[in-house]
Amino acid sequence: MSVVSARPDSAPSTDGTSYQFNRAADLMGLDADVRRILAHAANESVVNFPVKMDDGHVEIFTGYRVQHNNVLGPYKGGLRFHPDVDLKHVRELAAWMTWKTAISDLPFGGAKGGIAIDPRQYSERELERITRRFTYALGDVIGPDHDIPAPDVNTNAQVMAWILDTYLSMVPPQQRMRSMHVVTGKPIGLGGCVGRDKATGQGVVISIENWARDRGFSLKDATYTVQGFGNVGSWTARLLAPYHARLLAVEDHTGAIMRERGLDPFELAGWVAEHGGVAGFPDADPIDHRTFLSTKADIFVPAALGGQITAETAPLLDVQLVAEAANGPTTHEGELVLAEKGISILPDVLCNSGGVIVSYLEWLQSKRSEAWDLDEVDGKLRRKITAAYERVRDTARTHGCDWRTAAYIVAFERLERVYMERGIFP
Ligand code: NAD
Repeated sequence: MSVVSARPDSAPSTDGTSYQFNRAADLMGLDADVRRILAHAANESVVNFPVKMDDGHVEIFTGYRVQHNNVLGPYKGGLRFHPDVDLKHVRELAAWMTWKTAISDLPFGGAKGGIAIDPRQYSERELERITRRFTYALGDVIGPDHDIPAPDVNTNAQVMAWILDTYLSMVPPQQRMRSMHVVTGKPIGLGGCVGRDKATGQGVVISIENWARDRGFSLKDATYTVQGFGNVGSWTARLLAPYHARLLAVEDHTGAIMRERGLDPFELAGWVAEHGGVAGFPDADPIDHRTFLSTKADIFVPAALGGQITAETAPLLDVQLVAEAANGPTTHEGELVLAEKGISILPDVLCNSGGVIVSYLEWLQSKRSEAWDLDEVDGKLRRKITAAYERVRDTARTHGCDWRTAAYIVAFERLERVYMERGIFP
């Protein structure tokens, strides 16, 4: 039961027609042919597949994988399990992955996928069967040197392990040991990379550090708030702890909490692991969404879902920096308000690229049957993301533009150069 469409003629990616795409393309004078190519996803797969539930009845699920572009290398991007997952959204996220890998100077293209479900409604055994059947339905849409999934919202190392095991069961025995790099974000014992779990948060913190150094801003005693306390949000907070920065407020899908003297990110991570969300965290005040967004702090880290900072919510923010840990947390209208208020933005395609950078390091190790230590991984991540930060900063200076536009220009310049060198087949 699957529908696979390749190279739709009349379905430009949402991002391809977005204001940011056009602004960056206009400003740098992107070649018109390359611009047309980048405005479209290369392949879009929609799979409908049946899964038997614990009580014996069968449910049909819809899964997606959009492969936006692979001119720089294999398609790369996460899998998300969330009710909001649909083709339009996945298409947009896939395009952002193309820009992100290009900005980070990785030999990867961009992709994204997921299943439209609320995983909290299913048992662990049902989630395993859903994941395995989705992998089976995708078949050779994914592959170790073709398209490499990774964790995203509501997916983790366990989900990657199920995908890996299912994929390996579908290839001939002689190819199995050569296919371990079909996913990244795997458990360490299965060929995962030390430091991959914290990598996106680590990249966010390095980006904030670089931003602070450029401005002579001290992170010691700086205040910040975090939206989303899953993988990315909680690691960002834990990794900011050594700077003695103070976490004032946190919001997740269970509510928002505040503590003026500062929330301990380690204790909060333990609470969330046990209770499923931040609500009810002892000795913290419950606050509403509006109060959370209005909290005066130096830095706001959105690390949940997209579209949170809008024309309506941006006026509430009272911060100096928005460090975009989530993908697409700021709408174009929201960004205009932030600019008016003089709030800096570290754009998502730069700020949260630590995850895909360390995914690349994991992919290399799995390909070569190597296992690096944490110092080596952390050092390579720091050098890569700092180089990307400097490219974006310097491009913003050269073009006199905002950082998101500059980030897109960095990506488009690299993609354009490669298209010019390779030409268009036939
Ligand atoms: P996760 O599933 O571990 O955590 C998601 C968090 O968002 C949870 O705390 C959840 O409670 C919260 N959330 C969900 N709905 C919310 C709502 N309506 N209001 C407030 N909070 C809400 O996911 P993650 O891997 O931490 O991903 C978070 C963001 O970071 C996503 O935008 C993802 O695309 C992006 N990202 C993740 C990675 C990665 O390596 N995991 C890499 C790059 C970008």
